[in-house]
Amino acid sequence: MTDTIHAGTVAHLRGDPFAGENTLEIIERGALAIDPSGRVALLGERDAVLDAFPESELVDHGDAWLIPGLIDAHLHFPQFYATAGFGNGLLDWLENTVYPAEARFADESFARAAAEQFIERLLTCGTTTAMVFGSQFYDANLALFEAAERSGIRLIAGMTLMDRNAPPMLLQTAEQSVDSIEKLIGLCRHAPRLHYAVTPRFALSCSPELLELCGSLLRSHPESYLQTHINETREEIAAVRTAFPQRRDYLDVYDSFGLITERTVLAHSIYTTEPEMDRMAETDCTVCHCPTSNSYLGSGLFPLRRHLRRGIRVAVGTDIGAGTQFSVWRELSETYKVQQLQDFCLNADQLLYLATLGGAKALGLESEAGNFEPGKSADFFVLDYEEDQYLAARLSRCENAVEQLFSLLQLADERHIASTYVHGHMAASRNGS
Ligand SMILES: [Zn+2]
Repeated sequence: MTDTIHAGTVAHLRGDPFAGENTLEIIERGALAIDPSGRVALLGERDAVLDAFPESELVDHGDAWLIPGLIDAHLHFPQFYATAGFGNGLLDWLENTVYPAEARFADESFARAAAEQFIERLLTCGTTTAMVFGSQFYDANLALFEAAERSGIRLIAGMTLMDRNAPPMLLQTAEQSVDSIEKLIGLCRHAPRLHYAVTPRFALSCSPELLELCGSLLRSHPESYLQTHINETREEIAAVRTAFPQRRDYLDVYDSFGLITERTVLAHSIYTTEPEMDRMAETDCTVCHCPTSNSYLGSGLFPLRRHLRRGIRVAVGTDIGAGTQFSVWRELSETYKVQQLQDFCLNADQLLYLATLGGAKALGLESEAGNFEPGKSADFFVLDYEEDQYLAARLSRCENAVEQLFSLLQLADERHIASTYVHGHMAASRNGS
């Protein structure tokens, strides 16, 4: 087997631009050599890479951009068909739109078809790593993991756990859940791109017994992640205070069961208090920002700058189905707008970082994903806007490649993604080939 060279405009981050480093690298006549095992062998000027690998196969993408695969750190599989459902705020939307949609996943054949389409949709949007809330039903989760493994996408997922405050068919006690979870953890152990995440939906859905189970699963399976929601709306926070009156704050509900660690990802964190942020920084957990979801449900404006000042790792997620798009790339444009409303102006480097290297660091995957450093998995997508007359004309008026990247971050979307590669192999293509 030979190496493969992909040629085009290559763009990625070598470090953290929020730390003041100038780490954006754009090579306009660039190339990426990928070894037969699917890992990056070399990145550089096209001619130099071709000289270094004279026997390789060349895939010439012309002027299209090659960008590291996007990392979607928060979305819900059983809400695949629940996007754009009406709801007056989080709790009303959950009851009237989401729970009925999630109940459909009890039907295994329905869930299997949805799993295939869900994974395909992520890949066509350039997402090569996704952290996903699974279904409440074992067979649906099995279908999700199997579809992910077939496609090659990197999936972190787990069974969504609830034992109160939802329709009975979506509830399971700690005792009823444990066997299914252990089986799914066992499945992930044998698949290098699948990871299990213990997934209590949020504090209001979980009794102390269920949260206790989550803590014990993390202790017995330390390779697992934990994902849940926090501080999304004021109404929710007030309800959590009533449900757990003995806890200092929302974070402390999870923390008191041992759920806050460096492998914990907390979605939203809009109304997080100073003491909670201190504790987040101390435990080195991660927060995931989901801008279209926060706007759609009227939840609020995510205080990115306050999190970053504390050194809290931040990723970006679509939060399908409260989010209204599957494209993390488009979420970056919304991230920009939400921060503009708070006098925090993000540049192209910082935006790209959040969904690539920053997302990888947030999920502890920086040795495998996030940029084109040699040795990492060759996960990337090809952004080709030439057929879009307006976008091509707009970009031709940019002064340099950094300006072009900024415009692409605001104007491009999944329709401009020609193909997506995972571990060196094409996993999705606009032409369906
Ligand atoms: Zn969510």
